Amino acid sequence: MSLKDKKIAIVGAGLVGSLLSIYFSKLGAKVSVFERRNDMRKDVESAGRSINLALSDRGIKALEEVGVKEEVLSITMPMYKRIMHSIEGDLTEQDYGKKSQAIYSVGRRDINCILMNLAERKGVDILFSKQCLDIKFDTTTLHFKDLDPLSFDFIFGADGAGSIVRKKMKNKFALKTEERFIDCGYKELTIPSDAEGNHVISSDALHIWPRGSYMIIALPNLGGTFTCTLFFPMEGKNSFSLLTNEKELLNFFNTNFSDLTPLIPDLSEQYFRNPLSPLGLVRSNSWLEGNIALIGDSCHATVPFYGQGMNCGFEDCFLLNETVKECDSINTFKVKLDAFLKKRKIDTDAMQDLSLYNFIVMRDKTADKKFLLQKKIEALFSEKHPDKWLPLYSMVTFSDIKYSDALRIGQKQNSIMKKIIETPNINAIWNSKEIEERILSYL
Ligand code: FAD
Repeated sequence: MSLKDKKIAIVGAGLVGSLLSIYFSKLGAKVSVFERRNDMRKDVESAGRSINLALSDRGIKALEEVGVKEEVLSITMPMYKRIMHSIEGDLTEQDYGKKSQAIYSVGRRDINCILMNLAERKGVDILFSKQCLDIKFDTTTLHFKDLDPLSFDFIFGADGAGSIVRKKMKNKFALKTEERFIDCGYKELTIPSDAEGNHVISSDALHIWPRGSYMIIALPNLGGTFTCTLFFPMEGKNSFSLLTNEKELLNFFNTNFSDLTPLIPDLSEQYFRNPLSPLGLVRSNSWLEGNIALIGDSCHATVPFYGQGMNCGFEDCFLLNETVKECDSINTFKVKLDAFLKKRKIDTDAMQDLSLYNFIVMRDKTADKKFLLQKKIEALFSEKHPDKWLPLYSMVTFSDIKYSDALRIGQKQNSIMKKIIETPNINAIWNSKEIEERILSYL
């Protein structure tokens, strides 16, 4: 019988809640989703933070399973490489993977709308402006701001980093949680298109202005614009706290982002109008209590530097579906879910560690000639020995290798490359047989 006719509630119609609702409706459950905000399909302003996101293989696989891969890909911009902009305005390119491999820039609102439309077509009931305020765990009941309490067979909290479901779970079951901000926030800025609606810099790449302790990235949008994100410490020498007026702002941008500044004619207006948002991590030692579970950012929100938050949340849905699709009662469902979530946490912890590590790579190492050479050596070796070496970025982004395995293998690769890169005359012999043999000897 699977989950046929079981009443499942999902708190949050964000990216993960919307996709999860589709998976459960396909399993025959009666799914209701409760969303605090208005319907973003009618209310453009309510689409939420960060305008675009990088979608990659793990997310695409989960979308394919519910039949929306092509529809989603049709509204994306493929990014095949990183283009690094030096302080002098020189450009360096680095392919993300093989020539045909890309990550895809997609509007958060657009993908969320596609998922909500499909969910409703599959019979999911999405109720908007319904903020969940409380949960009764003994009766699996949700309490709302503007609705009478409702009881279900099972409830998922897909309500993001500030999850009320997690907070209630924590209070009732004394969970150990970590909710930590890093000393870096972000602000979005838009590069407009030219008069013909074209992109003013290469549109098949993610652009990075790496500057050590801070950076700007830019992802292309359909329609010719780019969304830039300034990742910058909140306090200190170079930080948001020091840019308090137009003069300081323009002085800072002209010095550090000289080739970007002319592309944003209304920089000052945008900068002082757009919100400054914090970045952080959420971890929790338990994701399941009674008949209530957490999924997506509510239990593993991460910093965005590997572009994995949404992709990982989508992969949660895919793997969860694989795990529970044969269940014939809520009890077997819970047993399988419990085992799955415990294993999954090992991978999402690794995903968060990888995300923190990639901040250093993006803001710092992408400007480092040694690091770029190391990546070239790895790419060449991987091309010759694909069965022996898949670069860390490819494992995370272009495969569904477990995040924890990717982290472990990546650490081993890094220790090998540390030795290789110190080889005398490496700049001249990086693509030689000798270097290839040395790498093979370390494996
Ligand atoms: P959310 O998207 O936060 O959705 C939660 C939903 O729950 C919201 O709709 C909210 O309104 C609703 N809600 C909250 N509380 C309640 C309540 N009490 N009652 C009812 N509803 C409620 N990920 C990537 O994969 N690639 C990227 O390139 C990428 N870039 C990012 C850039 C930035 C700057 C940031 C901040 C994040 C980025 N992410 C990226 C991460 C990604 O945004 C998140 O991982 C993803 O949005 C998580 O989805 P979610 O559905 O779990 O949570």
